[in-house]
Amino acid sequence: MSSHRAGAPRPPPTSDILIRDISHLATQNDDLGEIANAGIFIRGNVIEWVGKMSKLPSELSEHADIVINGEGHVFLPGLVNTHAHMFQALNRCMAQDQQLHGWLKTLYPVWAQHTSTSVFVSTLVSMAELLLSGCTTSSDHLYMYPNDVKLDDTIRAARAVGLRFHPVRGGMSAGMSRGGIAPDSVVEQEADILQDMERCITEFHDGSRLSMLRMSLGPASQKTVTNELMISAARLARKYPGVRLHTHLAENQEDIEYTERLYGYRFGPYISAVEWDQCDCWFAHCVKLNESERALFSERRIGVAHCPSSNTRLASGIAPVRAMLDQGVNVGLGVDGACSSDAQSLLAEARLALLLQRAGGDPRGLGVREALRMATRGGATNLGRQGELGQVAPGFAADVVGFKVTDKLAFAGTAADPVAALLLCAPDAGPVNWSIIDGHVVVREGVLLAADGNRWVREVLVARDAVGEAATGSGAMVAEAAATTEEVDAEVFDMAALLAAAERHSRSLVAGVSEAALGRR
Ligand SMILES: [Zn+2]
Repeated sequence: MSSHRAGAPRPPPTSDILIRDISHLATQNDDLGEIANAGIFIRGNVIEWVGKMSKLPSELSEHADIVINGEGHVFLPGLVNTHAHMFQALNRCMAQDQQLHGWLKTLYPVWAQHTSTSVFVSTLVSMAELLLSGCTTSSDHLYMYPNDVKLDDTIRAARAVGLRFHPVRGGMSAGMSRGGIAPDSVVEQEADILQDMERCITEFHDGSRLSMLRMSLGPASQKTVTNELMISAARLARKYPGVRLHTHLAENQEDIEYTERLYGYRFGPYISAVEWDQCDCWFAHCVKLNESERALFSERRIGVAHCPSSNTRLASGIAPVRAMLDQGVNVGLGVDGACSSDAQSLLAEARLALLLQRAGGDPRGLGVREALRMATRGGATNLGRQGELGQVAPGFAADVVGFKVTDKLAFAGTAADPVAALLLCAPDAGPVNWSIIDGHVVVREGVLLAADGNRWVREVLVARDAVGEAATGSGAMVAEAAATTEEVDAEVFDMAALLAAAERHSRSLVAGVSEAALGRR
């Protein structure tokens, strides 16, 4: 039953792909570097050959089932997103002038209205936006489970669009009556959280090489769970190879005050006390990590998901990324909640990361290639996939993206460095022209394809809006939806249907929220 609800894994690719005549290929591989006039040969779901077109073996050139013309393009490894809350995509532009805690308190009652269907729609919105801006692998931290919401809803969305997925089964257990910041009505029992965490691992986690889905566990934050849950989650994750741990840490000054008031110490002793000080952990934000905490992260190989748009939108501060890199900390990027950054583009995050490290007066604060590395290899390392993702090199996963730079005004005059143009010239270089994930073409000439032939449309149309109504409908409703589905192109993702569903669910989520709570100014 639940596996049906989560959709089915996509069958392996049956076509080999040659991308030829790529104008600029930034492999992110130390040996291969950047290659002009390059080619990539993909066999099944693996990159088999990378190099100058003039060196392409003739048997590969003759063997390809699909040939993509890379002229005028910059190709990169698919971007890796290591922090997101895709259930928030239907509530953008709310609580506009709040800091983190006030923002959360405004939005908890809105998110409490979520159903299985609205989470599915919201997650699809986030994923479509990420895919079209060059992301091929994403984590997603779902930490609220109101009504009939399950992690399965987000997995179904990933399978519908073909995204490589690292879902994080989050959770909140300590409501206001236990010193937390969330209303008691939106928290779960710790035993229930742990039981569902283990269900998700046994049902969905695939620890094999080039896996399309790996699980992580992530109690929401120290402000919403007990230390006991953090410890139990860590011990549970470590029973299963490849399952990782992820949550928020040191996001702003309020976090420092909260931690010191509650425990009498800072973040370093806290993560050690809850057994989250190991190399299978990565933390979002880390804006307020001090030098000794950064040293601990470096020594233990703990990762950081830097989320500059969210950090600036919520006035949290500027993470000390230069210092982290200099101390040897692995830094990846995250778009964070779709309503604290209000956009889901990793290139936009990389650009802002670069600008923020220079804002204090250091023109070498962060380089273009350092920022691109964070968006690719840094992210892969955060997810424990440094030997599989984040590089275009033989043996790596067939996850590559191509941005056309010769047909956009924003990129005119960039002959000196078209790779740098992706960050320096435009806040968002999208839509990506080509995206290949696991050897499947997911975006073709700027158009998002439907990995499962738009079967998800049935789900959207059958589902009812009202909280508490069944997420799957009667036979008659299914038949009606199926008839509608036949009218859409089975191959092209039905964006119009998604936007209509997003509009409908966005309105229903905020229907009961007062003007004052919305925080418009
Ligand atoms: Zn977050």
